[in-house]
Amino acid sequence: MPRPARSTPAIAPAGNAPLTTLRGCGPALAEKLASRGLSMVQDLWLQLPRGYEDRTRIVPIRDLQPGTAAQVEGVVDAVEKGFRYRPMLKVAISDDSRATLLLRFFHFRAAQVAQFEPGARFRCFGTPRLGPQGLEIVHPSYRPVEADAVLGSALDPVYPQIEGVAPATLRRLIGLALDRLPPDEALELLPTAWWSDLGLPSLRQALLTVHRPAADDDIAALLCGRHPAQRRLALEELLAHHLSLRGQRRAHRAHAAPALADAKLAQGLRDALPFRLTAAQSRVFGEIAADLAQPVPMLRLVQGDVGSGKTVVAAMAALLAVGQRQQAALMAPTELLAEQHLVNLRLWLEPLGVRVAWLAGKVTGKARAAVLADVASGAAQMVVGTHALMQEGVVFHDLALAIVDEQHRFGVHQRLALVDKGPRGRGTVPHQLVMTATPIPRTLAMAAYADLDVSTIDELPPGRTPVTTVVLASERRPELVERIRRACAEGRQAYWVCTLIDESDEVVASAAQTTFEQLAAQLPELRLRLVHGRMRPAEKQAAMLAFKTGQVDLLVATTVIEVGVDVPNASLMIIENAERLGLSQLHQLRGRVGRGSAVSSCVLLYQSPLSQMARERLATMRETNDGFVIAERDLELRGPGELLGTRQTGIAEFRVADLTRDADLMPRVHALGEQIAERAPELGERIVARWVGNAVRYASA
Ligand code: ADP
Ligand code: MG
Repeated sequence: MPRPARSTPAIAPAGNAPLTTLRGCGPALAEKLASRGLSMVQDLWLQLPRGYEDRTRIVPIRDLQPGTAAQVEGVVDAVEKGFRYRPMLKVAISDDSRATLLLRFFHFRAAQVAQFEPGARFRCFGTPRLGPQGLEIVHPSYRPVEADAVLGSALDPVYPQIEGVAPATLRRLIGLALDRLPPDEALELLPTAWWSDLGLPSLRQALLTVHRPAADDDIAALLCGRHPAQRRLALEELLAHHLSLRGQRRAHRAHAAPALADAKLAQGLRDALPFRLTAAQSRVFGEIAADLAQPVPMLRLVQGDVGSGKTVVAAMAALLAVGQRQQAALMAPTELLAEQHLVNLRLWLEPLGVRVAWLAGKVTGKARAAVLADVASGAAQMVVGTHALMQEGVVFHDLALAIVDEQHRFGVHQRLALVDKGPRGRGTVPHQLVMTATPIPRTLAMAAYADLDVSTIDELPPGRTPVTTVVLASERRPELVERIRRACAEGRQAYWVCTLIDESDEVVASAAQTTFEQLAAQLPELRLRLVHGRMRPAEKQAAMLAFKTGQVDLLVATTVIEVGVDVPNASLMIIENAERLGLSQLHQLRGRVGRGSAVSSCVLLYQSPLSQMARERLATMRETNDGFVIAERDLELRGPGELLGTRQTGIAEFRVADLTRDADLMPRVHALGEQIAERAPELGERIVARWVGNAVRYASA
């Protein structure tokens, strides 16, 4: 590949003009757009459609597929207006395929109602779903038409919605902005050879195609995001994100960090453990120790499947800091998990003479003041806690290592906030170790964690028996009650997990309460406890402890038990509404069983009927226990947002790139990133400015 040209023109001046230079864009509108990061004309060029509506053809109602957007044309059969629970307008239309489709509206005006006269003909566009009365579209876009009205000749772009800006207005402004697109020479940042060999168009051509597809463009490719124009934009966008993460990493590594090379205490723990580290644990600890020995801040992600034994590796890393009379902190996303870490760390570290302090939201008053004093004086060498660790008022004497568990539950900002607790005055920053049990497929890791080194614990401790997974319709619940009875009669313990996604804590808690009462009535001989997110932390803790110590046979819980809970005697888990959870989340939950030597099983209950996709997803759970395979499937089926969590700033928010679809571009992105970093950093800055811009607000401290 040729060297990047140093003389690439700066971002075209036309692109730098403020939006108020566009006809019809006054200050009020400009302000609304600015609130979404759109302030210059070029921002509108890059405000890419999030999809297309294909109005080039009409789909017979009989052929509609739930979940697939389509245009239909039909005649109104019946109209029903109701106000029982909330306003509702239902319009039934039918077509020559002799099938009926229901249009359902929750907000509507009187004029709209009047339009839908029986016999009137409408063209509607929307995504059908299976409703209580058959196929329906909620809030379709629609317009009255004459029979044989002409069809659109190209796809209509659909832009991400911006609050307070009508879609038509946005479309019009984007059109005006595109009219000002400069010629290729003024716009292009990437040397031609970087994209032409992949058969991709220039940036200008790519932008025009995605915003204004022509009638003869490959519509099918555009609809699924695989058009060369989209690939061209994805390449540039992925490159921009990659460069931005590299830049953050470089900035971070320009700081100094304490070199931690005294391994005596860590070795002491290793010798005292009741088990031998697995080869994978040893290797990963070695990688961490090598990093910590350097006077450069470590930024390392340790990923390992549930139960792979990350905690003990983290404890040994912490002892490298403590061994040099500095502090380590371990932060976990929930109180339950943090508390369990506290128990383990006290068990492991206190015999070595290390003081472990505890800081969570519920530590208040005098107790809190005492902990804060110990943390500030350095008397507490290891500090375990929740988000409370990041609060103002928490001042470390000498924080050398910040460990964040289940890091995907925290945002990038939060991860950095803990690092900010380092001893700034001394000119060093703490090392960072982040851990996750949600394994990140390689392609995603490349994009999501270009700022982190990754270690993988790819081996489970010996003696674990794989969990058998069964998928059952919820009608078969009575059989399960018997199964629980049998398991508990043999001295085993069981979890019953109630989930109701998209509902408030309160609703889930009450559903869990109901389930708890039903099960208690059906299993009078068993000891049951309930744990949910609305309970006071002390109650939650008491319930968990009772389960852990074997005083409870069946724990009815919400997903609060998801992460980290370790009860080896539990061998049966039942998960309700499993079809609604992400695969990685199901895998996490399932990881609560199979931690001991007993044969364990996990029953996934679903509500019929199952969609094809849900069926496939649950089948994946049945077929594999490998968290990596599951994560790959989750990524394919649900996209990266589900896996990384929407709070994983910047990752789920690509304009055009899709880490699953465009994964094959990543090796090239890497190679280009390397070249740019070495030979043309200022070009890199321009690419980042164009695509990522001020989104990089969290550049490393
Ligand atoms: P996770 O990686 O999911 O955080 P944990 O650190 O909670 O896993 O470890 C799960 C369980 O396995 C704990 O009870 C831990 O003490 C135990 N464990 C960790 N490493 C080993 C090992 N090498 N051999 C046997 N048991 C281990
Ligand atoms: Mg863990």
